[in-house]
Amino acid sequence: MVVVAPGTVVVVVVVVTVTVVEGVGRVDVVVATGGRTALAEDPQPAARPVATIPTAPSLTFDSLRNAATPQRYSPALQLAMARRETSLTYSRVGRAEGRDVGMRALRLLDWKSDPVIVEVDEPTPGPGEVVVRVGAAGACHSDLHLMHDFEPGMAPWAPPFTLGHENAGWVHAVGEGVEAFDIGQPVAVHGGWGCGGCDPCRSGNEPYCENPTATQAPGGGAGLGLDGGMAELMLVPSERHLVALPDGLDPVAAAPLTDAGLTPYHAIRRSRHKLTEGSTAVLIGVGGLGHLGVQILKATTPAKIVAVDSRPEALALAVAGGADLALAPSVELASEIRTFTGGRGADVVVDFVGSDATLALGIAVARMRGDVTVVGIAGASFNWTFFSVPYEVSLQTTFWGSLPELKEVLDLGARGIIKATTTTFSLADAPIAYQRLAAGEIEGRAVIVPNAQ
Ligand SMILES: [Zn+2]
Ligand SMILES: [Zn+2]
Repeated sequence: MVVVAPGTVVVVVVVVTVTVVEGVGRVDVVVATGGRTALAEDPQPAARPVATIPTAPSLTFDSLRNAATPQRYSPALQLAMARRETSLTYSRVGRAEGRDVGMRALRLLDWKSDPVIVEVDEPTPGPGEVVVRVGAAGACHSDLHLMHDFEPGMAPWAPPFTLGHENAGWVHAVGEGVEAFDIGQPVAVHGGWGCGGCDPCRSGNEPYCENPTATQAPGGGAGLGLDGGMAELMLVPSERHLVALPDGLDPVAAAPLTDAGLTPYHAIRRSRHKLTEGSTAVLIGVGGLGHLGVQILKATTPAKIVAVDSRPEALALAVAGGADLALAPSVELASEIRTFTGGRGADVVVDFVGSDATLALGIAVARMRGDVTVVGIAGASFNWTFFSVPYEVSLQTTFWGSLPELKEVLDLGARGIIKATTTTFSLADAPIAYQRLAAGEIEGRAVIVPNAQ
């Protein structure tokens, strides 16, 4: 209970509880909404209209909630899963005999559908291209959004394509002119594929390509409009997207670092100047990205770390990774976080869920001049006004990270400074991995291993 001093604006609290499932974590957020609101500890002067915790008209995110139930998967997929061993037409015997055979791939054939394992032709590299034998491909919650939430026109590309946008493996074949990599060399794939020629691309920031019409899948790349790594082989359109794996890192350990590691690394690095001694960072959602985000914060900043997730095992993972405080949502959540910061608020909030409720929480706990960075794509919106956020709070999104940052993340991984918690699945079991991911049952990252023997 907050003690309110005379003259202080009183908090009018309406409690709305919502369960949000995100790839990066599962957060049941209890948001205080309504009237306005300064907590007694709020250092902001009462004379000004202080930040209003946004009232979210609907705090449910039905598609995600539904995605969390196995019944959401179509009868056809469930049947396919039950028959998966017999439905595969791929023949390793054929390959051993040198015959021209296909390969298996987990493909999204249409929006609003479940992906299916089908047989496709093996890719062959053209000039400048590389075929990678996939050692591991991470299953990301954004793939669930692709399956269930995207509609025609939402992205400048469309199915069919093979899923899998965080990938590592070994060079399998190279096209004419590829010189930097040898057959069999272990590599990670930087998955955002831009034009290669604009300023962002030339600095390795291809996810921020400014000439997207020159690309095959504008704003996309591996597993996002173009074929990704949930197959035995994947075609990489240029060797510039590859990074040689440093010693000490195998593909299963490396694959999650190309997104689940790289994305939070980029987001945290962007706010690094605010994460000084005495600062506090709040991470919302401790799933695939969030559990690595905690480790990255711990390794690269002196900030105190607050992690938020509704799952006890996720909170335990956060503490193991270095979180100073791990909290499940409650009515008091925002005030607990503010109290932890001495009443000032958090210098940086990274929201790996990105729902209305989690964004509202982020704004509610942000410090003046802080950063609130939305990474998760659960459809958050926010009624921004001059007085709806503390002064000089920057509300921003990020998307993936750069090639130089990927090299840094892989280096941290190779030296054991950060490490993804992984659960591996065969390619045939990839649909099950997504089911468990949707149900919030994956600790850390689900990784598909297409070439397991
Ligand atoms: Zn992802
Ligand atoms: Zn470009």
